[in-house]
Amino acid sequence: MIGVASLDVVSTTTSSTSSSTTNILPYCSPRFHYCPYCAYTTIITSKLTEHLRTHTSQKPFPCPHCPFEAIQVESIRAHIRTHTGEKPFACVHCPYRSTQKGNLKRHVIKHHFYPLQVLHQQQQ
Ligand SMILES: [Zn+2]
Ligand SMILES: [Zn+2]
Ligand SMILES: [Zn+2]
Repeated sequence: MIGVASLDVVSTTTSSTSSSTTNILPYCSPRFHYCPYCAYTTIITSKLTEHLRTHTSQKPFPCPHCPFEAIQVESIRAHIRTHTGEKPFACVHCPYRSTQKGNLKRHVIKHHFYPLQVLHQQQQ
């Protein structure tokens, strides 16, 4: 029963006496580096860095309506709204609605933020 298999184990650890554990170097055992974006795995750190570039250089959120591509999901959402005409950002002061948060902010500052109008007058 414990014939060939046990002999194999013995042959690989012939020098194992008492100080065998000290010979094991920490970097001898392969460490796997996992890509956080896909199933890619490698034991070489530089290979992973190289691989990650394929993700960072790519723009993973393409617009279904035009060739526009965004790096961030928030950007593509804001962009798609320009196609769909959805205006989720409503002004609380008037019926103005905007597709983009930045536009609404600009609107509020321009039309409802009176202290800033003083600044505008000073510029003119
Ligand atoms: Zn990957
Ligand atoms: Zn588009
Ligand atoms: Zn308004």
